[in-house]
Amino acid sequence: MSNQSIQLTPELYTYLLEVSLRESDLLQELRERTRRMPEARMQIAPEQGQFMTLLARLLGARQALEIGVFTGYSALCVASALPADGRLIACDISAEYTRIAREYWERAGVADRIDLRLAPASETLATLLAEGAAGSFDLAFIDADKTGYADYYEQCLALLRPGGLIVVDNVLWNGRVLDAATADEDTRAIRAFNRRIHKDARVDLSLVPIGDGLSLLRKR
Ligand code: SAM
Ligand code: CA
Repeated sequence: MSNQSIQLTPELYTYLLEVSLRESDLLQELRERTRRMPEARMQIAPEQGQFMTLLARLLGARQALEIGVFTGYSALCVASALPADGRLIACDISAEYTRIAREYWERAGVADRIDLRLAPASETLATLLAEGAAGSFDLAFIDADKTGYADYYEQCLALLRPGGLIVVDNVLWNGRVLDAATADEDTRAIRAFNRRIHKDARVDLSLVPIGDGLSLLRKR
């Protein structure tokens, strides 16, 4: 028994996966494929993907946003939880990474639910707001360039309905948030973002220590 979150040893993490991970063959194949890329570390952890599928189902999400697609793992996890007429607007700037994503979305039979927008995410979100989409999304996942987080958060908050959820990745930044010797702009952006949302009365907040740290923010 404990009044603190457990510190996972490698053995306990292996056990966690062994007794709880339910990864489809296709998601597993996408993970294997991405592992061979130099940028493989950008992909979310499989148990995090499973957690996001669960969140989308709990919300009854129909309209979702993703900021940062890479090879499409998290988008596939969320899109699989949407109803057939649901929609995920997926934002990225890389045609190269998302070519792989599209291939797996097709194979999973969810490509028609995913609207990939290849442009800087702040532009795509601004376009949605200009089109009158404020208040219409159930879920947003923020996982692109870290210096953009503050703007993506504000835009997503406007696009969400009350009760909708923003999920923000990498908020523990592999521990660098605490490392006084680290002062690059990504690290500074994450530190500032964490402090800011801690005080943001527009949302309910929980920082979940899964993957690289995941903040859940429910719009009030
Ligand atoms: N969620 C992904 C997954 O499950 O594998 C990982 C996303 S990866 C950490 C970050 C992605 O953000 C990259 O694919 C990168 O091309 C994209 N990105 C970087 N800057 C961006 C921007 N300004 N607008 C949109 N996407 C951007
Ligand atoms: Ca990430």
